[in-house]
Amino acid sequence: MQDSPRPKANSRFILLLFAGMILGGIFGSVAARPFAFIDLLGDLFLGALKMLILPLIASSMIVGVSSLGDVRKLGRLGGFTLLYYLSTTVTAVILGLILVNVIKPGASAGMETAVAMEVADYSFLDVIRGIIPSKFFGAIISEGQVLPLIFFSLFLGSVITMVGEKGRPVLSFFEGLFHVSMKMTHLVVATAPIGVFALVATQMGQAGGWTGFYPVLKSLGLYSATVMAGLLLHGGVTLPIALMIFGRRSPLRFARDMIEPLVLSFSTASSSATLPVTMEALDKKAGVDPKVGNFVLPLGATINMDGTALYEAIAAVFIAQSFGIDLSLPAMITIVLTATLAAIGAAGIPQAGLVTMVMVLHSVGLPAEGVGMILAVDWFLDRCRTTVNVWGDAVGGAVVERAVNRRLSRS
Ligand code: ASP
Repeated sequence: MQDSPRPKANSRFILLLFAGMILGGIFGSVAARPFAFIDLLGDLFLGALKMLILPLIASSMIVGVSSLGDVRKLGRLGGFTLLYYLSTTVTAVILGLILVNVIKPGASAGMETAVAMEVADYSFLDVIRGIIPSKFFGAIISEGQVLPLIFFSLFLGSVITMVGEKGRPVLSFFEGLFHVSMKMTHLVVATAPIGVFALVATQMGQAGGWTGFYPVLKSLGLYSATVMAGLLLHGGVTLPIALMIFGRRSPLRFARDMIEPLVLSFSTASSSATLPVTMEALDKKAGVDPKVGNFVLPLGATINMDGTALYEAIAAVFIAQSFGIDLSLPAMITIVLTATLAAIGAAGIPQAGLVTMVMVLHSVGLPAEGVGMILAVDWFLDRCRTTVNVWGDAVGGAVVERAVNRRLSRS
């Protein structure tokens, strides 16, 4: 196991984060209604995190790619990263399918939970189109889309290496921007206990407190339990095994290093908003080579979503079971494929998976309105699956780092 000297995780701060989360849950439960001031605090915190995404992703990816120096190295890094993303996502979908077929949470579900819902159509072509949208900078700046930003940064970073000396000032600018963005992240994170408190309290208040949420959770109980069991198994068994075998790290210690992004991902329900904190923790706490982390994490926050993939598979089969539809083996295989694509296509923002699930439902002939059935518990499951998404990205950073470095030391 790797035992590199690195700064110790600050236990007092971790305690404060957990206290913020738990107190927020209790406060929101007791109050059972949203408070404008607390809502504002949460919005400010979330806004501050989102504000960091653009400078941080652009600078880290441009510097990272141009410092690789050689397109072949980028190819190797990209290859290992995609291999990791794909294999863990497909494993998560298969685990979800096994669980939902064994537990059969939809067999006894009444259709009374269905809610009429307007759903937009969504196809995989939209995912591809989203990489280079027609209003490119508008999509990045006003809509906050991350995929075009990643594309642009990779492109710019690679071209800097082709231009040579003349491109040097551009690179120096982004190097400076990267250090400044990291420092800003650090300062924003210092307010996280309050931000986390506000976000959790507001959400719990909106759900009508525990007494409002409990009946909903109960009526969709078996479905929620199936998703939670899948997330626990994937996050607590599959990914730690991958981390031990391929990343040669202790999962417990790694989890402790990543505790801040994990708490934040649950509180924000957004991989993208958590990204600055994940990058900081992976580099400063876990000691993963930033050249690898700064490539694996931004891409992972948008396209690697194990928790979302697992949930998409379970939800689709649950909806089929509730409608009394028996899915054949080819239909299950179709779900493996489309749930993987739907997770890739989902943006790292709250409940994005609910939208891309339409693609999975369509692929096996289920009505898109089925998503209305699971809407009531989705905000909660979204937070749980986002935590697994972020955990999967972080584990990916450690696994890919070792794969790339081993390969380099051999060649
Ligand atoms: N909220 C999730 C994320 O940001 C995406 C989703 O599954 O809805 O990772």
